[in-house]
Amino acid sequence: MEKRTYPLRHAIPGTETVVTAFHFGPAQSSRKIYIQASLHADELPGSLVAHHLFERLERLEAQGRVQAQIVLVPMCNPLGLRQNLFYGHIGRFDFATGQNYNRLRSIRLFDWALERLLEQGFEPGDDAALNVRTIRSALQQAIAAFEPQTSVEALHAVLVGLAVDADLVLDLHCDNHAVLHLYTLPQLWQAFEPMARHLGSECQILAEDSQSASFDESLSTPWLRLQRHWPEAAIPLACHSATVELRGERDLSHAWAQQDADALLQYLHQLGDVQLPDHAVRKAPELARAPHPLQGMQYVNAPMPGIVVYHVQAGDWVQCGQPLADVVDPVSQEQRTVLSPIEGVVFATSGQRFVHPENKLMSISGAKDIGNASLSP
Ligand SMILES: [Zn+2]
Repeated sequence: MEKRTYPLRHAIPGTETVVTAFHFGPAQSSRKIYIQASLHADELPGSLVAHHLFERLERLEAQGRVQAQIVLVPMCNPLGLRQNLFYGHIGRFDFATGQNYNRLRSIRLFDWALERLLEQGFEPGDDAALNVRTIRSALQQAIAAFEPQTSVEALHAVLVGLAVDADLVLDLHCDNHAVLHLYTLPQLWQAFEPMARHLGSECQILAEDSQSASFDESLSTPWLRLQRHWPEAAIPLACHSATVELRGERDLSHAWAQQDADALLQYLHQLGDVQLPDHAVRKAPELARAPHPLQGMQYVNAPMPGIVVYHVQAGDWVQCGQPLADVVDPVSQEQRTVLSPIEGVVFATSGQRFVHPENKLMSISGAKDIGNASLSP
């Protein structure tokens, strides 16, 4: 294992802010795995999983059982980790700009790589390995040339630079109160299905492009778009990328984290990237629930300001019209019951107790496309 630090541009004079990454496995390996945690800096279950992964990977590496390069970044957002306000940690949005740390709108890898490839006269043929090498090189050059204008962009430049040539990218997050769920592209679902089974993921949300410029999509969709640009050529989706939501923000226990770290290792074993001892290999359980389209997701907002009394919790399957929560105004004595707009699984609730109308109460994922594709800001 090699510990490396990557300084961010635009640090305050006289100070340095770095992202710390642990590099496991043979550097010359043709496979690269990239795992980062807590891009939303107050979502810490992934960081705890990374802590347990670190221990396991160190042991496996000492036994010569790590075949791929594995880059582990346990706390990938040093900017957000610093943000305390009135004794509370706020890590989803950058204090200076209000930017959601998981919205990489300035990172346009597809545009940049395509421009470079066209300049270089690239004409992809049927040699998939050659195409991947050439495209990766263009992607690496593109992110290396990016000049961040803000601290958040500087952070994104470092993280994307670390992940851009990886075969597998996992971005570990969590929700407020939630069951384990994940987001990826429909085209990558087959590849991630075993991981979802090992993790016991209760909700799999698929979208080709959620328009959110999330970290995982910023890395996977350039390949899809390049594939469409050259439909005759052999261009695989060479970066399998997913966002894994490790339950709720307070679901921090060694038991969960060890279980999740083991699930990820089981998946890496299945991919041939690590070799677990025979006695440690587990068969993946059945998939908990078939995937749903992102277009089938419905956020449920509060109908008025008031106190919330929840009738359902994360993991519950609800019917259309089923009471989800009451919002109570004890001054006017008004009370409204929020009914479920769709049938589906409540995969997360906000846990808010006093709500404003702009506050989300919960997130429901249904099987049916209702055209409601949009992720939280
Ligand atoms: Zn998050």
